Amino acid sequence: MRKPLIAANWKMHMNTGETREFLQAFLPQVEGVTDVEIVIAPPFTSIAEAARLMKDSNVRLAGQNLYWEEKGAFTGEISPLMLTDLGCTYVIIGHSERRQYFGETDETVNRRIRAALAAGLKPILCIGETLQQREAGETFNVLRRQVRDGLNGMEAEDLVIAYEPVWAIGTGKTATPEMAQEAHAFIREELGALYGEKAGSVRILYGGSVKPENVASLMAERDVDGGLVGGASLKPDSFARIVRFREQN
Ligand code: PEP
Repeated sequence: MRKPLIAANWKMHMNTGETREFLQAFLPQVEGVTDVEIVIAPPFTSIAEAARLMKDSNVRLAGQNLYWEEKGAFTGEISPLMLTDLGCTYVIIGHSERRQYFGETDETVNRRIRAALAAGLKPILCIGETLQQREAGETFNVLRRQVRDGLNGMEAEDLVIAYEPVWAIGTGKTATPEMAQEAHAFIREELGALYGEKAGSVRILYGGSVKPENVASLMAERDVDGGLVGGASLKPDSFARIVRFREQN
């Protein structure tokens, strides 16, 4: 049984004051939710404040990225140990914005995932095709390459995959539940080829314009095990409604 996971990716939003305001409104709304794992990935500068407020809560912390070395002369980078030191249990790796704007490749994604696991962090590996790739019929090839190269040389681990079609991120365009299920089933098949039966326990999240209005229908699909939420996670009420998606039926 895969426990649903709903994760907020705050990207480059939310300073410390905004983080405080958000959590003061959000935490009471999800108090007592035990059937969904809740994760928030603030920007690095707000993690400590979030950790302070989320202490003893049912919400876990994630980093939005990391560098693969433990420490050293890597100006501007954050190590896995720095994230665990602040209380992070998850880390987002290979988000399409990192791939698009910051030169992230499947090879650097692989290094980051290994470093995360070595430090005891659970990686949320983001994969997904661009509109051009979808229109060219390349979707499954892209997903296969991102899964195989991203996880190259790794055993089945405590891992989460986020399928995020690039054309659906921040655009208001959501994949239909059927499109999401088709991609998720394909990803699970790929994981099965790598890890056999253990692939059944890997959670595959959908990301791309998830909102309170569409979350329940996405979550109704067999292989959709949660959501990675950008824009709609920035408002406490909206993110709480997404977390409590079961109550909408
Ligand atoms: C994301 O950035 O991971 C994302 C899914 O963003 P949005 O929900 O805004 O499309």
